[in-house]
Amino acid sequence: MTIRQSLVRRANRAASAAVLFLLVAANLIVLGPRNIGIRGIFVLLMLVVVAAIVGQLLRIPCPNCQRSLGWAGFRAAHRARPGDDDRCPNCQVGFDAQVPAVPGAGADASR
Ligand SMILES: [Zn+2]
Repeated sequence: MTIRQSLVRRANRAASAAVLFLLVAANLIVLGPRNIGIRGIFVLLMLVVVAAIVGQLLRIPCPNCQRSLGWAGFRAAHRARPGDDDRCPNCQVGFDAQVPAVPGAGADASR
């Protein structure tokens, strides 16, 4: 499996979790008490959870050096075609390289 495939897999799992959560939360809002304050709290909670899921995607560690990939990982997981900048911003490993068998095995010497 390549690093890109593992990123896409992770992003898909996060998207599934977000959709499932939003469906449940939307049901709770619709079926819950007709109180604008309580509904407002539910909506706020939904936004916080979605922000947390996006934040989690931005903190995906590089399988090669274990440091956060940030937007590079997020972009690679959501782009249909490979881009020129599809590499780890820390260790420069390309996202089409194979995921190392031992996480962090390919860490660079500068660390
Ligand atoms: Zn790296």
